[in-house]
Amino acid sequence: MTGSSPEIVAFELAPLRELFQRCEEEGLVFGFIHNHPAGPAQFSDMDEENERTLIKALRNRNGPDITFVAMLWADGQWLARTRKGGCPEIAVPVRHTLVLGERITLYGYKESSDEHTEVQARQAAAFGKPFVDMLQSLRIGVAGNGGTGSPFATLGARGGIGELVLLDKDPLAASNLNRVRGLMKADVGFVKSDTLKNFIEGIGLSVKVASIASDVDTDPVAVDALASCDVIVGCTDDFAGRELMNAALYAYAQPLIDIGLGGKVDDGLDGHPYLRYHYGRISTILPEQGQCLFCQGVIKDIWIQAQLARRENPDITAEELKDRYLEDGGTDAPGVGPFTSASADFAVATLFDLIKPFRRFPPEVRRDMFFVDFVKMEIHSHETVGNPDCSYCRAHEFLLLKESCRLNRPFLGKRDDFC
Ligand SMILES: [Zn+2]
Ligand SMILES: [Zn+2]
Repeated sequence: MTGSSPEIVAFELAPLRELFQRCEEEGLVFGFIHNHPAGPAQFSDMDEENERTLIKALRNRNGPDITFVAMLWADGQWLARTRKGGCPEIAVPVRHTLVLGERITLYGYKESSDEHTEVQARQAAAFGKPFVDMLQSLRIGVAGNGGTGSPFATLGARGGIGELVLLDKDPLAASNLNRVRGLMKADVGFVKSDTLKNFIEGIGLSVKVASIASDVDTDPVAVDALASCDVIVGCTDDFAGRELMNAALYAYAQPLIDIGLGGKVDDGLDGHPYLRYHYGRISTILPEQGQCLFCQGVIKDIWIQAQLARRENPDITAEELKDRYLEDGGTDAPGVGPFTSASADFAVATLFDLIKPFRRFPPEVRRDMFFVDFVKMEIHSHETVGNPDCSYCRAHEFLLLKESCRLNRPFLGKRDDFC
């Protein structure tokens, strides 16, 4: 910087070449952030001129295949826009800027249409119109579209989520029909994410839905789709998939709301099963808040490895797993509709609470993990020690990860492949 005043900042281009080089070497995007302490609360002609000068210098150094981001802080708001090296004169405004702390703060989102506002009148009555507009701006990824994923997605769509990315490669089974929402008997045998997308689009609300019929932990397309979401909702009972989302939430700076069900079914005295306990768990992990799924005890390495071993050899026995020091994880969760649905409903409310905090947690209930006990009729949390050196939630090794390949997993390929 060679000079500054409340109106203008002057800088030289030559020293920036070092930063341009870093961008090229580390796969980073060059960004220019400035403020207008005395207004205007929009990009000025001077900003336009500066950005064109900068992107030309960047393109001369790094070639035309570059992206440039400009952000402006003015009047308590963030504005942002991007340009591509191929057409530097065209500035594309971003949909919104999301700031993630203990909650979601959104800037620059659009006002909802009159039609959407009418549908969401009741929600606006509870949480205000900005809440409705913010939810309409968000893209939510739902991994797993069965007993918890389908009620989450259908209620979330009715609640005013703007974009849903549905991920599930499994076909609907007849035994799912006791608890799924929006899926019919005629859908049995068809991929859940596709049929759920069709159902939600058929409701006729202003929600855009994408379906990706694959596993989140093996498909680069699914990983990129997840990376593009503002919030991820984990609705699978799959440990390998949860492990990937547990890394992605830090690398891509997303809240992860993970739903799990568990319990214990015993033999009753009458010869029929007896539900000893049954709970729904809602975990809410933010990149800089709360324990990760490992530290919460939701996933364990020996469970993930056992699942991968089963994927490779479906006939592997419990004995053979034991010989390899692995075990199948999880507890009995028979898949009872009111329990799966109620847990999904709690997760939708958790999303609402992230946007417009309304919950008052009693001191013994944790924000990042609580259980709804359907037998004892109570909401509680339990203390988990966690790993004090956890590479996810303590050492933050995945936070703003410099990726040589997706999430540094070579089998998922380079991020550039997809551009
Ligand atoms: Zn400016
Ligand atoms: Zn952890």
